[in-house]
Amino acid sequence: MRRTRNAKIVATLGPASTDPEIIEQLFLAGVDVFRLNFSHGSADDHRARAATLREIEHKHGRPIAILADLQGPKLRVGTFEDGPVQLVVGQPFRLQLEPIAGTAQAVTLPHPEIFAALVPGAELLLDDGKLRLKVERCDAGSADTTVLVGGRLSDRKGVNVPGVVLPISALTEKDRRDLEVALEIGADWIALSFVQRPEDIYEARGLVGTRAGLVAKLEKPAAIDRLEEVIEATDAVMVARGDLGVEMPAETVPPLQKRIVRICRQRGRPVIVATQMLESMIESPVPTRAEASDVATAIYDGADAVMLSAESAAGKHPVGAVQIMNRIIERVEDDPLYRQFLDTSHSANVPGQTDVADAVCCAMRRAVALMQPSAIVCATHSGHTSLRAARERADAPILSLTPLQSTARKLALAWGVHSLHVGEVSNLDEIAALAAKLVRSEGFAEPGDPFVAIAGMPFGTSGTTNLMHIGFA
Ligand code: PGA
Ligand code: MN
Repeated sequence: MRRTRNAKIVATLGPASTDPEIIEQLFLAGVDVFRLNFSHGSADDHRARAATLREIEHKHGRPIAILADLQGPKLRVGTFEDGPVQLVVGQPFRLQLEPIAGTAQAVTLPHPEIFAALVPGAELLLDDGKLRLKVERCDAGSADTTVLVGGRLSDRKGVNVPGVVLPISALTEKDRRDLEVALEIGADWIALSFVQRPEDIYEARGLVGTRAGLVAKLEKPAAIDRLEEVIEATDAVMVARGDLGVEMPAETVPPLQKRIVRICRQRGRPVIVATQMLESMIESPVPTRAEASDVATAIYDGADAVMLSAESAAGKHPVGAVQIMNRIIERVEDDPLYRQFLDTSHSANVPGQTDVADAVCCAMRRAVALMQPSAIVCATHSGHTSLRAARERADAPILSLTPLQSTARKLALAWGVHSLHVGEVSNLDEIAALAAKLVRSEGFAEPGDPFVAIAGMPFGTSGTTNLMHIGFA
């Protein structure tokens, strides 16, 4: 089964998309990567969805990536004695470690790390930034604040402390348990929420090893302060605009999105633009023009993937949202300006920081521009060759051949990559013959059409991309 667009679609599963038939419809409508959100649902829910996805994958013969999104250290206030309270501007409000039944004057905040990191003058955001408090006085177990922006506050609403690096790991006890489940069900990507520093990624890598790729969700100012290092440390990135827009003013999100996409493209890290892309489709069968434009912008910028959250997990039109997203992507990729934008935003490799694979890919890009081949065929074990090829954003689809099913699945996230799980090949003649056959059978080429293949010798060793071959179907 072949899709004809480069950018990929990530869709979140939830109550609106639990029925195996709906999940299959989502796949057929264009979903490449399915996100299991571990902030919601039980381990058994996730197990059942993963099993359904593997059946669909088997039935249609196209690799599907499963992205397990861990909740991370989402901070929350405690509960209230008599239901929701109203915080009034200018009034004092106290947060304390010690458990109490909350009132309009005080509530529990069961996170010692927050108190340790607070200073007078710091601001706290409650309920996705709807309410705002200013710290007047604080110690290790309490903080007296003044309400800057008031409103209704109810049980266990989220707390954000923008601009403060909290001394907490990006993996909570719950995340560690969820991670076990995610790996057991064969998740291909693990997304880490509220990453603050590269060390958070090293810590997760220690637990995950090579069993899955890591996606750093960028949603904390602390991570933005160390953006280049965080992107270098991770395998892929999500521009998590929901929490990012709470922790930082909304007007900072668009330039940050552009910067993150650009750095990810420079470094060859797959990048997902996420959250509120077609938000109004939670209720409405059609998106707003502004939402269509938002999806299109991410595609023109060369993002690897765009993502649906509540639209597919809890909305009224999960399949419709995927269909619209698919149409927007196809329309953009048909636009001659798209190619022009991709070319002008491509950054060449930096001499001295380039490996052999990049030199080969650079030649590939040039060959593609000159020959307009039917496909770029990559032979890969770890997926490295295909990711370096995708980084070029060359004007031909990438047919990625790998003997490892896990690699084929993982690459479902990468720009332009059509993955196939094939047997081991052991020499250049075999690759050339296999490529010539598959570009035709997979619908990329007519007999006689050229293709460009890249691979590494010795075969079967990762990270050795060192040759380019031009052949004919
Ligand atoms: P979430 O992450 O949906 O897990 O919060 C995405 C975001 O914050 O944008
Ligand atoms: Mn988030």
